[in-house]
Amino acid sequence: MKESYLGVNVSPLTYEGIIEEIRSRMLRREQSTIIAVNPEKVMTAQKDPQVRELINGATFQIADGVGILLASKLKKGSITSRVTGVDMMARLLKFAAEDHHPIYLYGAKKEVVEQAAVKITEQNPGIEIAGLTDGYEQDEEALVQRIQESGAEILFVALGSPKQELWIRRNMDRLENVLVFQGVGGSFDVFSG
Ligand code: UDP
Repeated sequence: MKESYLGVNVSPLTYEGIIEEIRSRMLRREQSTIIAVNPEKVMTAQKDPQVRELINGATFQIADGVGILLASKLKKGSITSRVTGVDMMARLLKFAAEDHHPIYLYGAKKEVVEQAAVKITEQNPGIEIAGLTDGYEQDEEALVQRIQESGAEILFVALGSPKQELWIRRNMDRLENVLVFQGVGGSFDVFSG
């Protein structure tokens, strides 16, 4: 059961729980979206119903930030540990390598995404990177086609919020080969370092 904070949903699942659900959703060829929720986003959602709808429309809203844990504790909720965007991405990379799901990296500066791909390959033997594109690419149509044809099944989008979530929502129907979408903010910068 999801918990709600000022009208914003948060999933109580752990990393493992989310991976398990994603595994079964992938078998059914159902697309999944993951969005990180922090107090800043909850506040933005108060002022902007579109942002709230964007968050609540995702498959998994992860509790990124101690603010959500504190709020859950106060209302005796079931969210007991943080699920950060960057750690969720790391778990998905491990899953992708083990279960042979090609990934695509979209976002950040060219040298950052390229270096992130090098590090990700080193840290996850066997992983297949179907492609990568920096976040300053102009031609969205061409990019969507490239991703669709790349064979990628998991797509990480690092454009910052809410740009990355809007991009995912706008294009996911056309990216029918991609089954998992995660908006990862500055995570490529973390992996590249
Ligand atoms: N970025 C991008 N294209 C843009 C704007 C931002 O690729 O048009 C990238 C930027 O290079 C950085 C990431 O998006 O790697 C934004 O990270 P930030 O930490 O600002 O995002 P947050 O997690 O705070 O939403």
